[in-house]
Amino acid sequence: MNLNDPVVTDCIFCRIARGELGTEFVAESEHNVAFRDLHPQAPVHMLIVPRQHFAALRAVGSDDWHVAADALSLATRVASEYGLYDGGYRVITNDGPDAGQTVPHLHFHLLGGGQLQAGLG
Ligand code: 5GP
Ligand code: ZN
Repeated sequence: MNLNDPVVTDCIFCRIARGELGTEFVAESEHNVAFRDLHPQAPVHMLIVPRQHFAALRAVGSDDWHVAADALSLATRVASEYGLYDGGYRVITNDGPDAGQTVPHLHFHLLGGGQLQAGLG
């Protein structure tokens, strides 16, 4: 199977993005959906997830960067809607085992709503 097959049937985030698991979306855009992380690590912890399957950031092809740009744009919209502009927020993606990626479908974490841990590494 191609890693970026647009119809990946057994990927959990593909299934969520297709609406198959009944997950509530806090926001949507043309190319991405946003929903609450199952195990929040901050008062506000959302996941921004492309509708299309990419295994990770490195798997985004040269024709598809608009999807990642759309994800970052959606992250800022959600940050605004959830009142994070005053205090600030963090957007991160984990790519690969050293970064601790556990779900092999590209996603950006949006974290905020309180003082976040200072370390990034
Ligand atoms: P990673 O470790 O790959 O960067 O992040 C995966 C994130 O997905 C984790 O924070 C985890 O809590 C979240 N997660 C895993 N499975 C589900 C799920 O089925 N639903 C939701 N809403 N979040 C999930
Ligand atoms: Zn997927």
